[in-house]
Amino acid sequence: MDCIFCRIVRKEAPARMVYEDEAFVAFHDIRPKAPVHVLVVPKAHVEKLSDYPDTEEGEKALGALFRTANRVARSLGLPGYKLTVHVGEEGGQEVFHVHVHVMGWPR
Ligand code: C5P
Repeated sequence: MDCIFCRIVRKEAPARMVYEDEAFVAFHDIRPKAPVHVLVVPKAHVEKLSDYPDTEEGEKALGALFRTANRVARSLGLPGYKLTVHVGEEGGQEVFHVHVHVMGWPR
């Protein structure tokens, strides 16, 4: 499986990392659409957000993803930001490994 975000997680592909813990990484988007634009990516490969099961386990995974997005935004000192998730090809998703876009405008 040749997933670019899995390769970034394994440090086999370059990325400007801003955050890492046991379950997530965050790095600057290579084509930023805001003054600060980072992607929060779970280390475990899940293709898209809608693949998380509608169960307590799925709820936990979704909660951890958005908790981490908040944590990353806070660590970047963003007073306000926009979180975006593209789900599926029809939803504009290009990289099929779950990620949250954190786009912010620092003061
Ligand atoms: O949500 P979506 O799949 O459309 O967005 C994928 C994002 O991943 C794009 O904004 C693209 O610029 C970014 N990307 C990246 N580094 C890569 C490949 C894609 O930051 N090596």
